[in-house]
Amino acid sequence: MSERPPSQLYAVVGDPVSHSLSPLIHNRWIGEAGIDAHYSAIHLQAADAAPSLRLLVQNYAGLNVTLPHKRAALAASASASPEALAVGAANTLMRERLGWRAHNTDVTGFADALSAAAGEDLKGRRVVLIGAGGAARAAALHLVRLGVQLVIVNRSAAKADALVRDLAPEAQTAALDQLAVAASQAAVIVNSASLGHAGAELPDLPAGKDRPFLDLSYSAAAAPALRQAREAGWAPHDGLTMLVAQAAEAFRIWFGISPDTAGALDACRAAVAARQ
Ligand code: NDP
Repeated sequence: MSERPPSQLYAVVGDPVSHSLSPLIHNRWIGEAGIDAHYSAIHLQAADAAPSLRLLVQNYAGLNVTLPHKRAALAASASASPEALAVGAANTLMRERLGWRAHNTDVTGFADALSAAAGEDLKGRRVVLIGAGGAARAAALHLVRLGVQLVIVNRSAAKADALVRDLAPEAQTAALDQLAVAASQAAVIVNSASLGHAGAELPDLPAGKDRPFLDLSYSAAAAPALRQAREAGWAPHDGLTMLVAQAAEAFRIWFGISPDTAGALDACRAAVAARQ
């Protein structure tokens, strides 16, 4: 006799998506909570993913959405949380009566990772945020709420200016080649630039003197910047804490349960180590 399929389906949608640790994390928590559900990965190649994401509401109770479809996820939704609206992108969708409700759990995920790396006391302190893409927008929303003195350092000035205009009107901006000056007095550096995916490095960093350097990437993509940070005397942290924390917030939204993040983080570290 074959086993009954799970009654609630969840998935992460992205392009690429085969590397995603989200199925590992969520199926672990689903098992621990004894929920009748399954979480899979859906590879979706589309210039505009919104129509396909709208169709998935018929079969899926919830989705995570990753690169490059987070803006389309918001567009595909019938309603949205204040965070998703402010960031302009969604990474978590929950099925409701009228369609998807969009959430952005990267904001909470970043908040948890930042406090784990740099503590709680950043109000009024200088924080350098490298990058101005989707992850930077989620990070900037939290940093503005914290009341830090924010400096956005990005390759393209236009994207940094747009981030300032939309989310952080009091932030300063600096060109990427000015990183050493911009970061010399920073309490913490947050790196959200995805340059490590291509094996590229950051410009020179100032001496870190054990200050925290939080990279939002993880695994091989984070390796070049974390090595640079360590060599310059910064205390390096990768993005796995944020990954697990944003997943935990999604799990709370879907199931109303706070899952075991420490166990999931250990499982992710083991999975990443096994791939290297
Ligand atoms: P985006 O594509 O939206 O933004 C990428 C950013 O990186 C832009 O600011 C871009 O600069 C910059 N960048 C890319 N290549 C280079 C380069 N060669 N030199 C300098 N700057 C470069 O990506 P996201 O913001 O969504 O993601 C960024 C990183 O954060 C990724 O590695 C992603 O995996 C990670 N992430 C981690 C999460 C977690 O839970 N840990 C959650 C979300 C993202 P420009 O504006 O000039 O193009």
